[in-house]
Amino acid sequence: MRRLLAPNLVLPHSVTALTAGVMIRHHLRALILDVDNTLVADHETLASPAIVAWVESMRGYPMWLVSNNFNEQRIGAIAQQLNIPYHCRAAKPSRRRVRQAVEALNLPLESIAMVGDRLLTDTVVGNRLGLFTILVLPPGATTFQGWRSATLRTCERWLARQVGVSL
Ligand SMILES: [Mg+2]
Repeated sequence: MRRLLAPNLVLPHSVTALTAGVMIRHHLRALILDVDNTLVADHETLASPAIVAWVESMRGYPMWLVSNNFNEQRIGAIAQQLNIPYHCRAAKPSRRRVRQAVEALNLPLESIAMVGDRLLTDTVVGNRLGLFTILVLPPGATTFQGWRSATLRTCERWLARQVGVSL
């Protein structure tokens, strides 16, 4: 279970803390990014200027968005705004859509970062495929303790403790 649930890297910040320096240190060459609560808050229809600037700073790395969201119009608009190809309705931790992004990237598995805010979807699918998994906080959040206390997240925190991941 630890093999599936433990991220390779826990960034106790939002995705903007994922810098080129982090990429170089971990020999990473591409990014597969979750959308909701990784790049934008649930309710937002477009990415913030901070996220747009971060994406521009990471343009040297090929990127894909892979979202479980069913709203293709919303995810498509965010992908268009950021100029990043995307899949929605991915049903992570199902591997199918993420694997399609991996195949499009055509890079060694361990050089591709799977980045997201959820252990049970983003981290698990990345670990299932042998990607380098990075857990981040939602935009604007500053601590894992301040994370929304929805039942699912409480459950994820408990699971994380069971596998020795401190959040
Ligand atoms: Mg998410």
